[in-house]
Amino acid sequence: MKTLLLALMMIPTMSFAQGVVTARAVIRDAGFNANIRTVELKHLTSSERFDGEFFKVVKGKEGVAVSMGDADRNLVLRAATTYFHLNKARDYFVDKLGSTYVAALPKIIVRIEHTNQFNELGHFAHDNLEPQFNNALTIPAGSGIEGRGVKPWEMEIWFRPEKKVHVDELKIKGGNGIGEWGSVLSAFRQQMHMTSMQRFLSQLALTQTSDLPTENVIGWENLVRVAGTSLLLEAVYKYADPLSRAFSRKWFWLDSALVPEIIYHEYAHVALSDHLELSHSSAVIEGMADFFAGQIADSSKLATNIKDHNVFNGKKATRKQQYSVQFETADYANSDFVFGMLWDLRAIVGEAPAPQFVYNLRQKIDTNSTIRKQLIEGILDTCIDLCEHPFVDKLKILQRYNARGI
Ligand SMILES: [Zn+2]
Repeated sequence: MKTLLLALMMIPTMSFAQGVVTARAVIRDAGFNANIRTVELKHLTSSERFDGEFFKVVKGKEGVAVSMGDADRNLVLRAATTYFHLNKARDYFVDKLGSTYVAALPKIIVRIEHTNQFNELGHFAHDNLEPQFNNALTIPAGSGIEGRGVKPWEMEIWFRPEKKVHVDELKIKGGNGIGEWGSVLSAFRQQMHMTSMQRFLSQLALTQTSDLPTENVIGWENLVRVAGTSLLLEAVYKYADPLSRAFSRKWFWLDSALVPEIIYHEYAHVALSDHLELSHSSAVIEGMADFFAGQIADSSKLATNIKDHNVFNGKKATRKQQYSVQFETADYANSDFVFGMLWDLRAIVGEAPAPQFVYNLRQKIDTNSTIRKQLIEGILDTCIDLCEHPFVDKLKILQRYNARGI
């Protein structure tokens, strides 16, 4: 770790040649491995700070953008990585999907290393109120409180610092069955934005801890059932920490500002927010965000992984799931199932038209939509508008949903 940091400090991280600004950031190679490489930063309005036309990256509650020359090179790496991938995600929605909503959005403040909880009236919750780690979230705009020094704010994206949590702290050892697992899960929910991607990561961290006493097996099973299994993340987690490259079975952490797919997932919430309000999480809203995270990642390796392992109909999925009404409830929302449903549309409408299909689908649903009713009606409606053979394709879609118990 130390040698790597030293090495990083010795490499000039910025260069200004012909107006092109480059920086070291985490990107994936063709094999989906995370590497630290030099990338070009687009749409910058400053040559010294991570401040651009569409994003300003700040540390915590600060107002000024992170300096490219900051002595904390890991902070600079996080700022460069979020800045680079957020612009990539924004370009995707504007250039590929023609989103006029995204094109007109005000500049977004991106907070890295930010531990405060979100408060919908006060913007930031008090510093002492349960600081947050190992996650990321997108917050809705707020009107502030006049006279109390809380200024109005626009949508923002927050990345929490990583914090290593030992599995023992998660009360896993000595757990004697399902009750104990309930408390583990609720601890997770408090500590993390327990949805889809992040939820899967925590689940994976647990399931890969092989040296547990066997009496906990029922616990593992229960956790898998509740949390669902995911795809996007198996590969992601393995390379979640390009700084240390260490993968530990005993420790869980997530440096969310260094994981491209998490950055895309959060930006997708922003891009879809004209119809999918950022009021709360639901299976539908999280599945939609994951779909675009998978698309923007644009990795054939990842796409194959999602196709094979998704819980909706993946051929190699360890646990295919039938639809259950529980998926509609907030706590047990099964975003993975929705993600699988949406990804499967690529097989029916085609891989190239699928993103536009799912993007248009957002107009037919909202944050309160259920899988069984509004989501399916929305998919069928969108098919009437966009499918090449609407009658046949709608039948195909319905057959697939019937097979999963919907
Ligand atoms: Zn989310």
